[in-house]
Amino acid sequence: MAETRPRKPAFETRAIHAGQDPDAATGATIVPVYQTVTFTQDAIGVNRGFEYSRSGNPTREALEQCLASLEEGRFGLAYASGMAAIAGVVQLLESGDHVVVADDLYGGSYRLFSQVMPRFGLRFTYVDATRPEEIDKAVCESTRLVWIESPTNPLLRLIDIAACAEIAGRQRARLVVDNTFATPFLQNPLALGAHVVVHSTTKYIGGHSDVIGGAVVVNDEETAQKLRFTRNATGGVPGPWDAWLTLRGAKTLAVRMRQHESNAAAVAGFLKGRSEVARVHYPGFPDHPGFDLARAQMRGFGGMVAIELVGGEAAARRLCEATQLFALGESLGGVESLIGYPWSMSHAAFPPEVKRRKGITEAIVRLSVGIENADDLCADLDQALRHAAASA
Ligand SMILES: *Cc1c(COP(=O)(O)O)cnc(C)c1O
Repeated sequence: MAETRPRKPAFETRAIHAGQDPDAATGATIVPVYQTVTFTQDAIGVNRGFEYSRSGNPTREALEQCLASLEEGRFGLAYASGMAAIAGVVQLLESGDHVVVADDLYGGSYRLFSQVMPRFGLRFTYVDATRPEEIDKAVCESTRLVWIESPTNPLLRLIDIAACAEIAGRQRARLVVDNTFATPFLQNPLALGAHVVVHSTTKYIGGHSDVIGGAVVVNDEETAQKLRFTRNATGGVPGPWDAWLTLRGAKTLAVRMRQHESNAAAVAGFLKGRSEVARVHYPGFPDHPGFDLARAQMRGFGGMVAIELVGGEAAARRLCEATQLFALGESLGGVESLIGYPWSMSHAAFPPEVKRRKGITEAIVRLSVGIENADDLCADLDQALRHAAASA
């Protein structure tokens, strides 16, 4: 039965074992929470691989190895939040550098790019990256990064990662993909040619809405070293408890994503048949503009659904306040369902005209479909839609 080449374990197995060998010191099966600032040195300058927990911590390192494995990458870095991870990548740049950004963007990234980073001499150009040729037009001599998310937030548009990587590479820029919505279970941007993957592990990877965190995964060793240096210099690291909670969440990512996906399909199908709903944005519908691309570059359609209410802003606001299982709140990707109003919540940082141009109107409601029972979720939306219509 001896195999000549060891079989690479599948995603589900790597989620539970990558970076998670039994503890070398004690044999603990589960990676311990190394709640320590410093590591006692055997002699001056002689340590056992760790010296100070901002620079390195065994619990954090286990998480980093696991995430790198799940993203099919060589090097993983964990950060204190998704925004710390994103800032860490942008801090690879120098004053005068230019970034081309897909304008369908997480609001916090937009805030960082539009209100903080320009003060350090970085320039950002926003394009509609659903047409990758727009990126090509915007790229110039000083472009160092192309920044995209796919599927996008909240309308779940698809962006062609391989095409963007090709355009970026041709201009010697790097393609960064924020893979938070898709998760590594459904999409691996590095395998599609992207150079950098960022995550808010706060969302699906942590999965239980109890810990903020972020991550970056790259294949290039020099980039990994620069990121590590910068993170150590700027300090945006997660504590060991947060790293441990995130790692515990990551173990069940595959089973959760399957359930998120089947529930989202059920909820999207239910909503499509409702007279109160003008449009359902869900990439798993064959008439969704990103359906073919989703099938080509993803392994599923994810757990997010957005809807446009016939009754406009008033109906959308009433719906958000009438659900009982779907909690009204920021965030997404937890086991519990959430409902949100992008206009004044996740997308509050964008100017109104930008939102309207992107189709993010006052009538849009976003659902992060959790892993509760799908019939219960549909029943909750049913009562909330009736309630919202009755109080019109
Ligand atoms: C939430 C989110 C972030 C920011 O992550 P935090 O952990 O909240 O800092 C970045 N990108 C996307 C797509 C997100 O959903």
